[in-house]
Amino acid sequence: MAKTGSPKKHRKISSRVGRDSNVEDEIVFLGTGGARYVIAKQLRATGGILFRIGGSNVLVDPGPESLYRLLTYLPKFDPEKIDVILLTHKHIDHSADINVYLDVITRGGFNKHGILLAPGDAFGEEGVIYKYLLDFIEKIVVIKERNVFKIDGLSFLFPIKHQHRVETYGFKLTHRDYTISYITDTKYFDGLIPAYTADIVIMNLIKLGASEIDHLSVDDCAEIITGIKPKVAIITHFGMTMIRTGPWNVARQLKERTGVTVLAAEDGKHYTIEKLLSYR
Ligand SMILES: [Zn+2]
Repeated sequence: MAKTGSPKKHRKISSRVGRDSNVEDEIVFLGTGGARYVIAKQLRATGGILFRIGGSNVLVDPGPESLYRLLTYLPKFDPEKIDVILLTHKHIDHSADINVYLDVITRGGFNKHGILLAPGDAFGEEGVIYKYLLDFIEKIVVIKERNVFKIDGLSFLFPIKHQHRVETYGFKLTHRDYTISYITDTKYFDGLIPAYTADIVIMNLIKLGASEIDHLSVDDCAEIITGIKPKVAIITHFGMTMIRTGPWNVARQLKERTGVTVLAAEDGKHYTIEKLLSYR
């Protein structure tokens, strides 16, 4: 709910706030950590991923300390420029700061703006999003399988429901002539490869071996990379076994196994789309 005398006028101005067309398209990792111990000790940041593409700013999975990481890694970036907040699922390492952002990007509701996308179970009594904040934003989209969401030349497809403990969706983002897939937390299953075929594939790789809590293993990632054959793959969302081994070591092994360039994401690092598309 806008609290000014002329909410419509403010809404129009605010919808322009996010335009960032002079910025080179890039992906910024506000965190590359996942799982309980890594969060607790902040061994890696857990702030999610910021996609700055086509003049839009899309924040994905703002976990614990995300706002702090955003302000640290992008000191000149005004959080009010975030156009879209996209939650892949409600687990705490993905969602902890979402309410903070909904307040911050709308100046506590005074500047109604922004679009929130999240699965249905992120809302309501068992959800993670405060009900009163929903009035602050312009639009709410409940993600469902095969939904497409479009904003200013960007198209997000949520191709398939993941096998995870809560309702979970990754996405395939199309802009101009390229595609980026984000395969968030999931158990491996056959539908993943056709669903996420893309030029750039980002995958959550929380631990080395097969996981009892429905995550991809290194072998699963190798299978996906071999199946998709992207220009480049990026692994992120590391738990303790990955950090002990060194994510860059795992990335190198994956490259040797698949022949595809695999990068281990680093906290605060900006990856330009142009550079990522130049691999292979
Ligand atoms: Zn999860």
